[in-house]
Amino acid sequence: MQKHIEALKDSKYCSLWHDQDVRPDTLPALSESTSCELLIVGGGFTGLWAAIQVKEREPDADIILIEKTFLADGASGRNGGFLSSSLAHGDTNTDHHFPGEADKLYQLGQQNLTELLDTLKRYNIEAHYEQVGETQVATNPASVTALRKDFEQEKAEGDNVVWFNKEEMQEQVNSPTYLAGLWRRTGQDGTIDPARICWGLKAVLLKLGVRIFENTSLNDIQPLGTEKMRVKCGYFVIQSNKVLMATNAFHNPLSKLRKSIIPVWDYQLATEPLNETQLAAIGWHKTRHAMGNHANMFHYYRMTHDNRITWGGGGAVRYYFNNGTNHNYADIQLRFEQLAQEFFETFPQLAGIKFSHRWSGIIATSTRFCMVSQQAFNGRVAWTVGYTGLGVAASRFGARIAIELLGYQPSDILQMQFVKKKPMPWAPEPFRWFGVWYTQKALVKADTNDGKRGLWLKLLDSMNLGFSC
Ligand SMILES: Cc1cc2nc3c(=O)[nH]c(=O)nc-3n(C[C@H](O)[C@H](O)[C@H](O)COP(=O)(O)OP(=O)(O)OC[C@H]3O[C@@H](n4cnc5c(N)ncnc54)[C@H](O)[C@@H]3O)c2cc1C
Repeated sequence: MQKHIEALKDSKYCSLWHDQDVRPDTLPALSESTSCELLIVGGGFTGLWAAIQVKEREPDADIILIEKTFLADGASGRNGGFLSSSLAHGDTNTDHHFPGEADKLYQLGQQNLTELLDTLKRYNIEAHYEQVGETQVATNPASVTALRKDFEQEKAEGDNVVWFNKEEMQEQVNSPTYLAGLWRRTGQDGTIDPARICWGLKAVLLKLGVRIFENTSLNDIQPLGTEKMRVKCGYFVIQSNKVLMATNAFHNPLSKLRKSIIPVWDYQLATEPLNETQLAAIGWHKTRHAMGNHANMFHYYRMTHDNRITWGGGGAVRYYFNNGTNHNYADIQLRFEQLAQEFFETFPQLAGIKFSHRWSGIIATSTRFCMVSQQAFNGRVAWTVGYTGLGVAASRFGARIAIELLGYQPSDILQMQFVKKKPMPWAPEPFRWFGVWYTQKALVKADTNDGKRGLWLKLLDSMNLGFSC
């Protein structure tokens, strides 16, 4: 058996973050019809941060939060735990879609991350945060040149960046594939345990009097007169003045919300904890960089609190026809084999290590590659969805926009293009599937061709629809 397949043999399909003793019990489902002032649908970061921020602004607000399965079962309990202040997926994307707002978005992103970390401290939420910045490595000569250019520019702009040549990079993290590296250390970016954030926020919300029902799904939503919304959850009904949809990539009955995002599956692995010999072989534990390679189909990988490596992204990422979110897509052996193979190409000296966990999650992707906030029913319903792979910190800001749209102390952020500009809807099927498939093929080709973007990617770039890291 090949070593990467052997390494996967005893892994269990379960998010590493879910598999912890501190995981709280699932709360009982809704068992009677009821009413509230604000109903939040979805128990991931967006829903939880929305509830916290409303309570901080208006402590008497009467809030119910419902979650279809259990809190953190969506992307919030399945991600890489890379904590980034970015709100709009990088400078190029920001300038394309929100010209003139880059500085303000930068400042809001930094402020959001500071407030997020302050909140965790204030409520004693231990989420294993590590302020390690973000490190991008070059694995081919073209990437070295591109990364070096980024370094020069960011240094000239006053950012806290460090350049590593080949030997220096391999001294930091020992992979024979590394030719150079760029360590971005400005601000408070780093890594965190995402499920622990959710569990911590859940405990705080219960103390603040928020009613939380797990295993409770919104099945239908209708206006009730001109003041309220009527939400059907199985046999029961919740009447609410306002509804905040925090359902992200999952199917939602509101077609306006559905059209703005597509669900993209992403797969991840975690190794068993590294022993002393394995740690010495890669040297990574000394600096604990949060890593990614400079490529379109990039891998993201990091060390955990107990010295495992989590490894995700790369070519395994997939969109399935007709917005497929069926469980059949969750545990596909081929995807994990591809990830495992790419892992050993990066760290051949870890041959023999086993993967303890394999899991997947759904990324809500918008055509502008960052969050989309909108309203319906005369402002009684609002949502923020579509963080496109960068939502661990950004979702707190997305939640802020959504609660302000619902009237909880609105501020000037609602006047920004970032909030007001309508996203381009995704094309209908089968064009959608074909477009994503073809674009992914083109991105892979560019990665194997020194980053050179072909005609299709150039066309998308010209329409501000091209994805580049
Ligand atoms: C594999 C993976 C890796 C990622 N890595 C990173 C990373 O390293 N850094 C980063 O910044 N971002 C990352 N992301 C993105 C980030 O995790 C998400 O942007 C963020 O978690 C979104 O939070 P959310 O609350 O909006 O959505 P979710 O966490 O998906 O929450 C939505 C919730 O709504 C519930 N729900 C859906 N429909 C209903 C209904 N009808 N009734 C009741 N409840 C419902 C779902 O069960 C779910 O719990 C990653 C995502 C994935 C999938």
